[in-house]
Amino acid sequence: MSTYFTTAAITICHQRRGEGDRVYTLLAANGGRLEAIADGSGKILSKLAGHLEPFSEAVVTLVQRGTTTKLTGAVCRRRFLNIARTVERMQAAGACLRLCRELIGVGQDDPQPYALLRDALTALDDGAAPEVRDAVPTVFALQLSSLLGWRPQLDRCGRCNAGVASGSFDLPAGALLCVSCARSVSGAAALGIETVQYLRSVLKDPLPAAAAVPASADTRRTAKQMANDLVAYHATAKSA
Ligand SMILES: [Zn+2]
Repeated sequence: MSTYFTTAAITICHQRRGEGDRVYTLLAANGGRLEAIADGSGKILSKLAGHLEPFSEAVVTLVQRGTTTKLTGAVCRRRFLNIARTVERMQAAGACLRLCRELIGVGQDDPQPYALLRDALTALDDGAAPEVRDAVPTVFALQLSSLLGWRPQLDRCGRCNAGVASGSFDLPAGALLCVSCARSVSGAAALGIETVQYLRSVLKDPLPAAAAVPASADTRRTAKQMANDLVAYHATAKSA
């Protein structure tokens, strides 16, 4: 039996398969991350491809038969045209798409990552100031991790539960450790008060506002490194 459904979706990536077919990895409002095949025969793919370009949002029609999902229709809803105008914006948007590919499993049906990705692309498309633009992938990484159940614990020590304002971030615990507990853990990255406050703010505010939270270049750099470490840790765990 075939099930038809329509959903808004953003293309994460695509690859060729077999005789000119194309497999699209989509992040959808309804269905989460999906892999859908566009038939290369006839005129289907050539009709769809233009609507599914990178950095655009489309309404797609999908047909589910058993474990196979076919893409039968796509109409572009919004093209984030300004993203392609500068290398820096393209790199920032590309980083967000890569995070979706690395962290979200196929079949994780939750509409929130889709809304978050759309907010990130919108912020980049709207022509944010350079420091805001550069903060988008970091904020996206932290907020996506939170949506997927890996929200960093930054108010209490992950070992002794004492209140903490700074300390060392322990990736396996997903938590900040106080100075005394951190002594028994190797490899936990030190986070100062300013960085901890910055991380708490960007986890609390919605994306466009979170990317505009003011911080020193040093704080942004430390937060970016922490977000990268968090993502790498969970991406490795997911693929293991
Ligand atoms: Zn402690």
